[in-house]
Amino acid sequence: MNVASIAIMSTHNTKRRSAVLELPKRNREIPGDIKIINDAQNALEAVRLVQLGARAALVCQLTGLTKRVVARLYHRITGVPSSSGQVPFTDTWYLKNNHRMLDANLVWRLFHRMEHAEKSVAGVLIQVYEAYLEITDTPALSLTRAFFVPRLVTMRTWHQQTCDHCTMLFIAPLKGGGVTCPVCIEYFNHRCRRCGAAIEHRTAGRRKAACSRCYEQIRQDGKSESYGTSNDHPGR
Ligand SMILES: [Zn+2]
Ligand SMILES: [Zn+2]
Repeated sequence: MNVASIAIMSTHNTKRRSAVLELPKRNREIPGDIKIINDAQNALEAVRLVQLGARAALVCQLTGLTKRVVARLYHRITGVPSSSGQVPFTDTWYLKNNHRMLDANLVWRLFHRMEHAEKSVAGVLIQVYEAYLEITDTPALSLTRAFFVPRLVTMRTWHQQTCDHCTMLFIAPLKGGGVTCPVCIEYFNHRCRRCGAAIEHRTAGRRKAACSRCYEQIRQDGKSESYGTSNDHPGR
Protein backbone atom coordinates (compact mmCIF):
# COMPACT_ATOMS: atom_id res chain seq x y z
CA MET A 1 0.00 0.00 0.00
CA ASN A 2 1.56 3.30 -0.99
CA VAL A 3 1.17 6.66 0.67
CA ALA A 4 -1.16 7.94 -2.02
CA SER A 5 -3.50 5.02 -1.58
CA ILE A 6 -3.55 5.58 2.17
CA ALA A 7 -4.79 9.09 1.58
CA ILE A 8 -7.27 8.08 -1.10
CA MET A 9 -8.64 5.17 0.86
CA SER A 10 -8.94 7.28 3.94
CA THR A 11 -10.96 9.79 1.98
CA HIS A 12 -13.39 7.39 0.45
CA ASN A 13 -13.46 4.81 3.18
CA THR A 14 -13.99 2.05 0.67
CA LYS A 15 -12.30 -1.34 0.95
CA ARG A 16 -10.00 -0.71 3.81
CA ARG A 17 -8.81 -4.16 4.77
CA SER A 18 -5.99 -5.57 2.71
CA ALA A 19 -4.01 -8.74 2.30
CA VAL A 20 -4.47 -11.48 4.85
CA LEU A 21 -8.00 -10.62 5.81
CA GLU A 22 -9.15 -9.70 2.32
CA LEU A 23 -11.42 -12.24 0.72
CA PRO A 24 -11.35 -13.29 -2.92
CA LYS A 25 -13.85 -11.27 -4.95
CA ARG A 26 -15.81 -14.30 -6.04
CA ASN A 27 -16.48 -15.19 -2.44
CA ARG A 28 -18.85 -12.37 -1.49
CA GLU A 29 -20.12 -14.14 1.60
CA ILE A 30 -17.79 -13.41 4.51
CA PRO A 31 -17.41 -16.58 6.58
CA GLY A 32 -18.28 -16.06 10.23
CA ASP A 33 -14.83 -16.78 11.59
CA ILE A 34 -13.18 -14.25 9.26
CA LYS A 35 -15.80 -11.67 10.18
CA ILE A 36 -14.99 -12.14 13.85
CA ILE A 37 -11.30 -11.59 13.14
CA ASN A 38 -12.11 -8.48 11.10
CA ASP A 39 -14.35 -7.07 13.79
CA ALA A 40 -11.80 -7.78 16.50
CA GLN A 41 -9.07 -6.16 14.43
CA ASN A 42 -11.25 -3.06 13.87
CA ALA A 43 -12.02 -2.82 17.57
CA LEU A 44 -8.36 -3.16 18.56
CA GLU A 45 -7.35 -0.50 16.07
CA ALA A 46 -10.15 1.79 17.29
CA VAL A 47 -8.92 1.46 20.88
CA ARG A 48 -5.33 2.21 19.91
CA LEU A 49 -6.38 5.18 17.76
CA VAL A 50 -8.30 6.68 20.68
CA GLN A 51 -5.33 6.09 23.00
CA LEU A 52 -3.13 7.93 20.52
CA GLY A 53 -5.50 10.93 20.53
CA ALA A 54 -7.78 10.36 17.53
CA ARG A 55 -11.23 11.87 17.71
CA ALA A 56 -14.30 9.69 17.26
CA ALA A 57 -15.04 10.89 13.71
CA LEU A 58 -11.60 9.86 12.47
CA VAL A 59 -11.84 6.51 14.25
CA CYS A 60 -15.18 5.83 12.47
CA GLN A 61 -13.67 6.82 9.15
CA LEU A 62 -10.64 4.57 9.56
CA THR A 63 -12.15 1.50 11.15
CA GLY A 64 -15.63 1.43 9.61
CA LEU A 65 -17.15 1.04 13.08
CA THR A 66 -20.44 2.83 13.69
CA LYS A 67 -20.62 6.23 15.36
CA ARG A 68 -22.49 4.73 18.28
CA VAL A 69 -19.90 2.03 18.94
CA VAL A 70 -16.98 4.46 18.63
CA ALA A 71 -18.66 7.07 20.84
CA ARG A 72 -19.11 4.47 23.59
CA LEU A 73 -15.60 3.17 23.15
CA TYR A 74 -14.18 6.68 23.26
CA HIS A 75 -16.03 7.55 26.44
CA ARG A 76 -14.97 4.28 28.05
CA ILE A 77 -11.28 4.89 27.32
CA THR A 78 -10.99 8.63 27.96
CA GLY A 79 -13.82 9.24 30.43
CA VAL A 80 -15.09 12.16 28.35
CA PRO A 81 -17.05 12.43 25.10
CA SER A 82 -15.10 13.08 21.92
CA SER A 83 -14.91 16.69 20.75
CA SER A 84 -16.33 17.32 17.33
CA GLY A 85 -13.52 19.50 15.96
CA GLN A 86 -12.90 19.59 12.25
CA VAL A 87 -10.39 17.45 10.45
CA PRO A 88 -7.77 19.75 8.87
CA PHE A 89 -8.31 20.60 5.23
CA THR A 90 -5.59 23.18 4.50
CA ASP A 91 -1.86 23.41 5.21
CA THR A 92 -2.05 26.74 7.05
CA TRP A 93 -1.40 25.23 10.46
CA TYR A 94 1.72 23.35 9.29
CA LEU A 95 3.25 26.46 7.71
CA LYS A 96 3.07 28.48 10.94
CA ASN A 97 6.49 27.31 12.11
CA ASN A 98 9.43 25.21 11.01
CA HIS A 99 9.08 22.66 13.82
CA ARG A 100 5.74 21.62 12.32
CA MET A 101 7.25 21.38 8.83
CA LEU A 102 10.14 19.31 10.17
CA ASP A 103 7.75 16.92 11.87
CA ALA A 104 5.45 16.75 8.82
CA ASN A 105 8.46 15.62 6.78
CA LEU A 106 9.44 13.09 9.42
CA VAL A 107 5.92 11.66 9.35
CA TRP A 108 6.00 11.62 5.54
CA ARG A 109 9.19 9.51 5.68
CA LEU A 110 7.58 7.15 8.16
CA PHE A 111 4.57 6.69 5.87
CA HIS A 112 6.98 5.82 3.06
CA ARG A 113 8.62 3.16 5.20
CA MET A 114 5.21 1.54 5.51
CA GLU A 115 4.54 1.67 1.79
CA HIS A 116 4.56 -2.07 1.27
CA ALA A 117 3.13 -3.07 4.62
CA GLU A 118 0.17 -5.42 4.41
CA LYS A 119 -1.87 -3.41 6.84
CA SER A 120 -5.14 -1.54 6.99
CA VAL A 121 -5.13 2.25 6.73
CA ALA A 122 -5.68 2.45 10.49
CA GLY A 123 -2.86 -0.06 11.08
CA VAL A 124 -0.42 1.99 9.02
CA LEU A 125 -1.38 5.22 10.76
CA ILE A 126 -1.00 3.61 14.19
CA GLN A 127 2.44 2.28 13.34
CA VAL A 128 3.58 5.58 11.83
CA TYR A 129 2.35 7.63 14.76
CA GLU A 130 3.82 5.29 17.37
CA ALA A 131 7.20 5.48 15.63
CA TYR A 132 6.90 9.27 15.44
CA LEU A 133 6.27 9.51 19.20
CA GLU A 134 9.24 7.26 19.88
CA ILE A 135 11.57 9.33 17.70
CA THR A 136 10.71 12.81 18.95
CA ASP A 137 10.53 14.16 22.50
CA THR A 138 8.52 17.19 21.47
CA PRO A 139 5.92 16.03 18.91
CA ALA A 140 4.31 18.97 17.12
CA LEU A 141 1.77 16.90 15.20
CA SER A 142 -1.31 15.29 16.70
CA LEU A 143 -2.41 11.99 15.20
CA THR A 144 -4.97 13.86 13.08
CA ARG A 145 -2.32 16.25 11.78
CA ALA A 146 -0.01 13.34 11.00
CA PHE A 147 -2.80 11.57 9.14
CA PHE A 148 -3.36 14.63 6.97
CA VAL A 149 0.27 14.90 5.77
CA PRO A 150 0.03 12.35 2.90
CA ARG A 151 -3.21 13.96 1.79
CA LEU A 152 -1.46 17.32 1.36
CA VAL A 153 0.65 15.61 -1.30
CA THR A 154 -2.19 13.74 -3.04
CA MET A 155 -4.21 16.96 -3.03
CA ARG A 156 -1.18 18.58 -4.73
CA THR A 157 -1.03 21.25 -2.03
CA TRP A 158 2.50 20.08 -1.28
CA HIS A 159 5.07 18.64 -3.66
CA GLN A 160 8.18 16.56 -3.27
CA GLN A 161 11.22 18.75 -3.85
CA THR A 162 15.00 18.59 -3.62
CA CYS A 163 16.76 20.95 -1.22
CA ASP A 164 19.30 23.26 -2.91
CA HIS A 165 21.62 23.00 0.10
CA CYS A 166 21.66 19.36 1.23
CA THR A 167 19.93 17.68 -1.80
CA MET A 168 17.51 15.90 0.53
CA LEU A 169 14.01 15.17 -0.74
CA PHE A 170 11.27 16.84 1.26
CA ILE A 171 7.66 17.95 0.92
CA ALA A 172 6.40 21.53 1.07
CA PRO A 173 4.36 23.96 -1.01
CA LEU A 174 6.08 25.05 -4.22
CA LYS A 175 7.73 28.46 -4.00
CA GLY A 176 9.62 30.53 -6.47
CA GLY A 177 13.36 31.05 -5.99
CA GLY A 178 15.62 28.89 -3.87
CA VAL A 179 14.48 25.64 -2.35
CA THR A 180 15.42 24.99 1.28
CA CYS A 181 14.28 21.96 3.28
CA PRO A 182 13.05 22.35 6.89
CA VAL A 183 16.27 20.77 8.21
CA CYS A 184 18.41 23.39 6.46
CA ILE A 185 16.03 26.17 7.55
CA GLU A 186 16.54 24.98 11.13
CA TYR A 187 20.30 24.78 10.57
CA PHE A 188 20.42 28.35 9.25
CA ASN A 189 18.47 29.48 12.31
CA HIS A 190 21.52 28.61 14.38
CA ARG A 191 24.51 28.79 12.06
CA CYS A 192 25.92 31.58 9.93
CA ARG A 193 24.90 31.26 6.28
CA ARG A 194 28.24 32.61 5.18
CA CYS A 195 30.83 30.73 7.25
CA GLY A 196 28.82 28.14 9.22
CA ALA A 197 29.86 29.51 12.64
CA ALA A 198 27.36 29.58 15.50
CA ILE A 199 25.11 32.62 15.62
CA GLU A 200 24.77 34.30 19.00
CA HIS A 201 21.31 33.80 20.38
CA ARG A 202 19.13 36.84 20.57
CA THR A 203 16.01 36.78 22.67
CA ALA A 204 14.13 39.48 20.81
CA GLY A 205 13.91 40.97 17.37
CA ARG A 206 14.89 39.52 14.02
CA ARG A 207 17.26 36.63 14.29
CA LYS A 208 20.57 37.23 12.59
CA ALA A 209 21.42 35.32 9.43
CA ALA A 210 25.19 35.85 9.73
CA CYS A 211 27.64 35.65 12.64
CA SER A 212 29.07 38.85 14.12
CA ARG A 213 32.33 38.50 12.20
CA CYS A 214 30.63 38.01 8.83
CA TYR A 215 28.14 40.70 9.63
CA GLU A 216 30.96 43.13 10.34
CA GLN A 217 32.76 42.01 7.20
CA ILE A 218 29.66 42.55 5.09
CA ARG A 219 29.16 45.96 6.63
CA GLN A 220 32.74 46.96 5.99
CA ASP A 221 32.60 45.71 2.46
CA GLY A 222 29.71 48.05 2.05
CA LYS A 223 27.47 45.33 0.82
CA SER A 224 23.93 46.35 1.09
CA GLU A 225 22.23 43.10 0.28
CA SER A 226 20.65 41.38 3.21
CA TYR A 227 21.13 37.75 3.99
CA GLY A 228 17.50 37.68 5.03
CA THR A 229 15.89 36.65 8.23
CA SER A 230 16.39 33.21 9.65
CA ASN A 231 13.16 31.85 8.23
CA ASP A 232 13.73 33.16 4.74
CA HIS A 233 14.87 30.81 2.10
CA PRO A 234 18.32 31.87 1.00
CA GLY A 235 18.23 33.08 -2.53
CA ARG A 236 14.69 34.25 -2.25
ZN1 LIG B 1 18.36 20.86 3.08
ZN1 LIG C 1 29.94 33.86 9.65
